Amino acid sequence: MKIIINGKEEIIDRQNFSILELLIIKDVKMPEMVSVELNGEIINKDKYDEIIIKEGDKIEFLYFMGGGEYIGFATKAIHSGYEKDKETGATFVPIYSSASYEYEKAEDLADVFDGRKYGYIYSRIANPTVNIFEQKINTLENGIGAVATSSGMSAIAAIIFALTESGDEIISSKNLFGGTLLFFNEIMKTYNVKVNFVDACDIQAYKKFINKKTKLIFIETIANPKLNIPDVKKIAEIANQNEIPLIIDSTITTPYLFKAKKHGVSIVVHSATKYLTGNGTAIGGVLIDTGNFLWQKSKSPKVIKYTNKFGNFGFLACIRKNIIQNSGACLSPFNAFLHCIGLETLALRMEKHCENAKKLAEYLKQHTKIINVNYPGLSDNEYYEISAKQFNNKFGGILTIRLGNKEKSFRLINNLKLAKNLANIGDVRTLVIHPASTIFHECSKEEMEEAGVYDDLIRISVGLEDFEDIINDFEQALKEV
Ligand code: PLP
Repeated sequence: MKIIINGKEEIIDRQNFSILELLIIKDVKMPEMVSVELNGEIINKDKYDEIIIKEGDKIEFLYFMGGGEYIGFATKAIHSGYEKDKETGATFVPIYSSASYEYEKAEDLADVFDGRKYGYIYSRIANPTVNIFEQKINTLENGIGAVATSSGMSAIAAIIFALTESGDEIISSKNLFGGTLLFFNEIMKTYNVKVNFVDACDIQAYKKFINKKTKLIFIETIANPKLNIPDVKKIAEIANQNEIPLIIDSTITTPYLFKAKKHGVSIVVHSATKYLTGNGTAIGGVLIDTGNFLWQKSKSPKVIKYTNKFGNFGFLACIRKNIIQNSGACLSPFNAFLHCIGLETLALRMEKHCENAKKLAEYLKQHTKIINVNYPGLSDNEYYEISAKQFNNKFGGILTIRLGNKEKSFRLINNLKLAKNLANIGDVRTLVIHPASTIFHECSKEEMEEAGVYDDLIRISVGLEDFEDIINDFEQALKEV
C-alpha cells in the first residue's frame, strides 16, 4: 500500500502493519529512539505496536539519534542549533558582532541579495548568532523556521503588519498583556485595522466575527494577567475551517508547557525577555512558523508576494525581508547569545517555576488576609482541567492575588524583602507588581476589567528561590498588612 514517509510517497508491500513493524520494515536502528508523527500527531511510544497504518497515512520519523537531531526537550534545548567552532573547538555560541559580511566577488553578493545563494548580508536582516537562537527555538517548537526580533512586542507587531492592510479586520482575545492591548488599540486603529475583541474562552464569539476581511485570530495561551485559558484546539479548528492563521502568544507557557504545532496553531510568538532567557538580562522576541498553515492560501497580499518565490516559507520571508529588514526591529547578537544561554536550562527552570507557584498558591489560598488567589493549578480553579490537558499537567509560574483594596496591596508589596517589585515576569527571582497602576495605567477601566486587572490585584511571577524562603517572605509581609 501507498503511504507518505517524511514527505515522500512510498509503496510498502504489506497490509495491516503497526508503527513498530514499519520501523522494522524500514530497518530503523534503535526504534525506541525514534519519535513518530502520524498524520500530524506525535504518537506516544507505548502505542507503536497498537496503531495500525492505513493507506495514504502521512508518517514522519523524527530525531534519529546521531542524525544531528534529538528526542528529548532538554537535549534539544542544549544541543540544537550549534555544535562547536570547527577551528577552535569552542563549545558555546559565538557572538558575531558584525554589521555586515564581505564577499570576494560582486557576483556573489548580488546572488545573496537576490536569494540565489545562502549567505549573510547585513545584521539588520540576519546575523549568525541570532540565527543560532532562531534554530534552537524553532527546534523546540517543532516549526519550519523562526525569526527573532528586538522584543516580544516587535514580534507581535511584525506578524500583524505582515498579515494586515488598511481596511482589514482581526479577531483578538480581549484578555491580553497590556502592551499588546495598547498596540491593537492605539497603533492598529490608526492604520485602519479593526480589532474585534472577544472573550478568550468564548468559542462561539470567534465564529461570530469571521468575515471576508478577517486576516488572523490572536490569543494568549494563558492570558497575562487574567490567567484564563482558552481551548486552543477548538479555536484552531475555527481558524482552519475559515483558512485564517491562528497566532498565539506562548510567553507564559514556553514550548516546554505548550506544544503549539500539535494544537493546530499557525504562528507562535514569545517575548524571549521572560522565561526563555530566565534572568531578566535581555529584551528580545521571536516568532515561529509551525508549518500548520498553507501560506499559498493566505488572504494577505504581502505574504502572497513572498509565497510566489519562497513557497510555504512565504510568511517567514515576508517577516524577514519586508517587515524586519525595513522597520529595523532586529535582535542584537549579544541579546541572542543571552537568549541561547537561557534556553539551555528552560526545561529545568519551568519545572521548578511550576512547582514553586503551586506551593505558593496553596499557601496563600489558606491565608486569612488574601481574599482571592487565581492560579490555574488550584484544583477548584475554572481552568484547572484545560490547563492540565493543554500544558501537560502543568500550570505555569504566574499567579495573582487580591487583598481587598489598593492600600493593602501596596503595603504588601512595600514589605516584601525577597520578592522584587518590578515590571517583568519569568525571572529566576520572585517578582511582584500592581498591574493597575503600572502596566495598565494607560488603559481604561473597562479595558482593565476585561484584562482581569483590579485595583487590589497583585501579579506574582514565582521564582526559583528555595520555596521556604518565598513563603517566609510573604508571611512576614502579610503581617504588616
Ligand atoms: N507578551 C506577553 C504575554 C508579555 O507578558 C509581554 C511582556 O511582558 C510581551 C508579550 C512583550 O514582550 P517584550 O517586553 O519583550 O516586548
